[in-house]
Order: sequence, then structure tokens, then C-alpha cells
Amino acid sequence: MKYQAYPVETGVPTFTLGNEDGNALREFIESELSPRLKIKLDVDIVSELQTSMVWGSLPGRTEETIYVMAHRDGFFDAAGDNASGVASMIALAEYYAQFPKSERRRTLVFIGLDGHHNSGPGFGVERMWLAANHETLFDQTALLINAEHPSTVQTIVRPRYLNRDDEMIWSNSYTAFHWYAGGSTRPELNKIAQSAFQEFGISTYLEPNPRAPAGDLSRVFQYVPGLTTTDYYHYFHSDLETAETVPWTGLQNTTKAYARIIDEVNKLDLDVLKRPPGTGLDQ
Ligand SMILES: [Zn+2]
Repeated sequence: MKYQAYPVETGVPTFTLGNEDGNALREFIESELSPRLKIKLDVDIVSELQTSMVWGSLPGRTEETIYVMAHRDGFFDAAGDNASGVASMIALAEYYAQFPKSERRRTLVFIGLDGHHNSGPGFGVERMWLAANHETLFDQTALLINAEHPSTVQTIVRPRYLNRDDEMIWSNSYTAFHWYAGGSTRPELNKIAQSAFQEFGISTYLEPNPRAPAGDLSRVFQYVPGLTTTDYYHYFHSDLETAETVPWTGLQNTTKAYARIIDEVNKLDLDVLKRPPGTGLDQ
């Protein structure tokens, strides 16, 4: 399995080495052999390409908003991280576009983020822009759903005792999620989320994360009622992030749950979802 880490901030070309190669190299260094290593890096770097955020909106009856966002960039085939999130977001856009404006209480805004994986000084520059502009963007926002890694295949590492090699086996299910639904100061949103998870059979950790998990919501959850369900543990950033590791059942169920959450949130007034003034950021 090939793996791509986030870029690190160095002034020299940097790449990821597999565990066995890394250990072999370290053993050489630890030995008396004074190893010399010659590496040829065969990659193309294409400079001066342009990218941008993509916005789409479905106007509603009011100027109050519900956002759905998903980052569009990824490593390798990027099926889990984050084509799955983009698929979920597009399905929600298609679904809500069927209804006339008069049946949408709030304006739905869909954001395709770019540059999520560009570590270094510009890391997540778009979500930092969202955070910097939170007062204008999120003043009237009832909910922001971050669709990020919404379905990954459940795998199990089974030790093979005889030859000591571990074996990776797949299940016919999808992985339980980290989840966050506005934190402890938004019990109504937590309740809506949990009942949607139950209705559509979403596996989650029993307790929500106290803060938004790593990912694009982590920069903006302080400013907006945020919701995410996400998994990071299987084939993340590897060349096994193919369509086979994204169970369609999980993708469907998660997306339906997001729609249910949007509908239920639309029954609540904004003041129920806004944080009380002076609320600590950690909640
Ligand atoms: Zn991601």
C-alpha cells in the first residue's frame, strides 16, 4: 500500500518511505556500515496551476442559511477522502433542487473547498478564509454540514500467528464515525443528529467529539452550528482509497441522515441553534 502524508514544511524535497524500507535504512544507520544512499525522485511538479472554491446556492424563503461543504482535492483515487463527501453534497443539492423555493425555509449553500491537503503556510487556506469571514458568512446560519469521508469499509487486522504476518480482512459493513453536532451547548442539534443516525442505521462512536474532529469543520465550528460524521482510519491517503473502499450503503445512509437533519433543523428557529453570548469555544 502506498501512502501520502500531508506535506511537511521543509526546504528540501520530501517524500514518504514505507515502514519496512524505513526500518531497514535505520538499521543501516545504526550499524557500523556508514551507509550511502542514492535516491532518484521521479515526479513531475506542475507549477502555476489555478484553483478555486466552488459555490452553489438554492435560494429559500428567507436569507437564513444552511451550508453543506466538502473538500474536492485528494490523494491517489481519493474515493474516500473526499470524493465520497462530494458525492454526498451533490446528492443533497439534487434532492433539494426538486422542491420549489417556497418549500425551502432557508437558503442552501453548497461549497466545494479546494486546497485542503496543501499543508504549510497555506494549509486549508479556504477554511481559514471561511473562519476569517465568519461574521458575514454565518451570522444567519442555522447549520453547516461538513461532508468529509462519510463512508469507509470496515476492515479488521487479524494476526496470523504462524508466520506472524498480519492479515487485513474486510467486513460487509462500514466504519463507525467520529461525530460532532454542535457541542454540548446545542442539545437540540445533538438530539436531531442522534435520532437521524438511529433512523438510517449510522454506526457512530457512542459519545460525540467535544470539539469538531480534524477536517474542515475544525476551523469553523466555533462560529456556526456545525455537524459532521467522519472516519480517518482505513486506507486514508493511500492508494487503496478506491471506490471499493467506499460502501454505497454507508454513503446512502449518511446522506439520507444529513437530509433528515437539514429538515429537522428547518423546524427550529435560529435562536435555538445560536450559541449564547460568551460561550466558551471549547464547547
Ligand atoms: Zn478529508
